[in-house]
Amino acid sequence: MKKIIFATGNEDKMKEIRMILAGEDYEILSMKQAGIDIDIVEDGKTFEENAIIKATAISKVKEAEGCIVLADDSGLEVDYLNKEPGIYSARYEGVDTPYEIKNRIIIERLNGVPDEQRTARFVCAIAAAFPDGRVETRRGTIEGRIAYEPAGDNGFGYDPIFYVPELGKTTAEIPPEEKNNLSHRGNALRAIKEII
Ligand code: IMP
Repeated sequence: MKKIIFATGNEDKMKEIRMILAGEDYEILSMKQAGIDIDIVEDGKTFEENAIIKATAISKVKEAEGCIVLADDSGLEVDYLNKEPGIYSARYEGVDTPYEIKNRIIIERLNGVPDEQRTARFVCAIAAAFPDGRVETRRGTIEGRIAYEPAGDNGFGYDPIFYVPELGKTTAEIPPEEKNNLSHRGNALRAIKEII
């Protein structure tokens, strides 16, 4: 069975990934389960660069020998804010600032901005580092708009303010399985699944 290490400490992401790769003949380990604990400086300029930095750094530790290492980098791009927070989504307004506040700030920065200019997307780049040293990336996106008010308790991060017009809901108002079927991470993972 192929061993895959997913380079994240985020339990929400691990859940999504397990759901999407379920049924495949893989053993999927989190970094913690693989016994890997290293700090990586994500100083790339794009989602792809950051994903590659993480995947290659982890694939070099001895615990990852023979494994495929997957790493993702994701975030929210708000067109009206010149694609902010982008690769700085987790760090936006401070790493420890609760998302209720981050989300409130984004809504306030779009105060008075009409629907057609509230366009935004979640982006996810996933890098796969193979035992032979090869590295591949795939990108997934989901298009939406910044809501006027936060709504929903599912998901995490910016989900309560990410409104998907086709659903008439935010991504925090839909169940996790439905989000996986259309999310940026789901799309990137399905593309990666083809090559691992
Ligand atoms: P990463 O962990 O470095 O990829 O940072 C991703 C950040 O982007 C998260 O901390 C969230 O702020 C945001 N983000 C990425 N994907 C999602 C999502 O599916 N819903 C809500 N926020 C997301």
